[in-house]
Amino acid sequence: MAFRLALLSNRLFSTTTVTSMLLKDKAFIDNEWVNGHNGKTFEVINPGNGALINNVPDLDVNDVQKAITAARAAFLTYRDTTAKQRSDMLKRWHALLEKNKDELSKILTLESGKPLIEAQAELHYGNSFVEWFAEEARRSRGDIVPSPVSTKKLFVEKEPLGVIGIITPWNFPLAMITRKAATAIACGCTCVIKPAEDTPLTALAIAELTIEAGFPKGVFNVITSSANNAPEIGKLFCESPLIAGVSFTGSTMVGKILYQQSAQTLKRLALELGGNAPFIVFNSANIENAVKCAMGAKFRNAGQTCIGANRFLVQEKIHDEFISKFCEAIKKIKIGDGMKEGVTLGPIINKKQFDRIAKLVEDTKNEGGKIILGGNALKNIGELFYEPTVIVDVTREMKIYHEEIFGPVVSVVKFKTENEATFLANDTRSGLAGYIFTEDTAQMQRFSKTMEVGILGINEGLISTAEAPFGGVKESGLGREGSHYGMHEFENIKYVCLGNL
Ligand code: ADP
Repeated sequence: MAFRLALLSNRLFSTTTVTSMLLKDKAFIDNEWVNGHNGKTFEVINPGNGALINNVPDLDVNDVQKAITAARAAFLTYRDTTAKQRSDMLKRWHALLEKNKDELSKILTLESGKPLIEAQAELHYGNSFVEWFAEEARRSRGDIVPSPVSTKKLFVEKEPLGVIGIITPWNFPLAMITRKAATAIACGCTCVIKPAEDTPLTALAIAELTIEAGFPKGVFNVITSSANNAPEIGKLFCESPLIAGVSFTGSTMVGKILYQQSAQTLKRLALELGGNAPFIVFNSANIENAVKCAMGAKFRNAGQTCIGANRFLVQEKIHDEFISKFCEAIKKIKIGDGMKEGVTLGPIINKKQFDRIAKLVEDTKNEGGKIILGGNALKNIGELFYEPTVIVDVTREMKIYHEEIFGPVVSVVKFKTENEATFLANDTRSGLAGYIFTEDTAQMQRFSKTMEVGILGINEGLISTAEAPFGGVKESGLGREGSHYGMHEFENIKYVCLGNL
């Protein structure tokens, strides 16, 4: 069914029209487009202008149980497919995702608010995981281990884990799904995917393409639910004996709930949680490069990324120069509706997040932080737009130093010595990403070693790619996504001993 939506703009924009076979209003279970058993729905809103995009089913645990049962039934045959068959299937899906890039980018921008140019970049990034794992599917292999006795032969085999429950956030509505689901499917697992309530439409759109790609029924299920039903569904994922593993990207708070709930079934968990990334600029840094990278690491997706630079730690001697050049670059940001040509910063995803960011800035001001740029809501553009903001003189006594900002707000701490920088960088329970800027190669080496993070960018702000492992240490999570390491999360190791030879 095709939908034609005329999205009335607020006073800033002209009418935006989307016609797409990919815009869905049903959940996807066992290759069928379905409503929930009670017929309830919830609204998906464009954060850029408050317009309704679509209504989708508000599934509850009864509906999700059906999806889990379908995924388990599918697993019993899907696990026997060959690596080559899975690879071919993922390649077909990849080709369709590429072919429909423009349409998918528009849906992604409508529901997430991110600028179209960033949505296109997400398509490029998200699709690359499907391509990568189509290739990795054929490279996952076991071992034949030399036996200590001549009458035995020892084999180590890789087997798919089973049904994977996938829960994703709204900040990368496509990539967070492809990064998990393509891996699971490459390994021979089936999945039940619960996208975030703010952004279920991209997930449903890519589900439509799995049909054309020839996915067997029950391999890829997308269940939509409102925020109200999310906790119950998460609990079901953790407790169901039919689910073998749960892969989650989202807040540390919810990650910890899932961890606790999984104790009873000892579920395999992959958790990609929040960060508090330090972005360290040393005296020896190339300031122009540091500023360029800071723009991407901070303002991509309006600062709503888990590897986003959260605390700028800037060494005393170059502090003022870096801040002044950074502010000049920030002033060039073009704020507005993501669909509008030239826009580089969109809205905050929803009111809850918006209010949290506004309060954090207000609190920092009251605690003694100095706002040197921005610091205001931009209600003239729309309800959820917040000015790019720079706060200096931040100290570790302030709340903003410890919290994941998840918004277009730069928080700057000045430091004197390298020891101080090491302390500040690791002075957090999070350990996802970190960035250092220095031209001193010995300093690079020292910091590669001391930074307590899963991902480190040296003189680079754009660090994530399908070929490299993504994941954190400390309370930023468990496991890795992407790269060949990503396959381990969805595989069991079986040792087979052939005896009496
Ligand atoms: P954020 O605060 O950034 O929205 P969340 O961790 O709350 O991050 O949300 C990430 C995903 O987790 C979303 O799909 C959301 O619906 C889901 N979610 C929220 N609460 C729970 C929960 N208690 N159990 C399982 N999933 C949850």
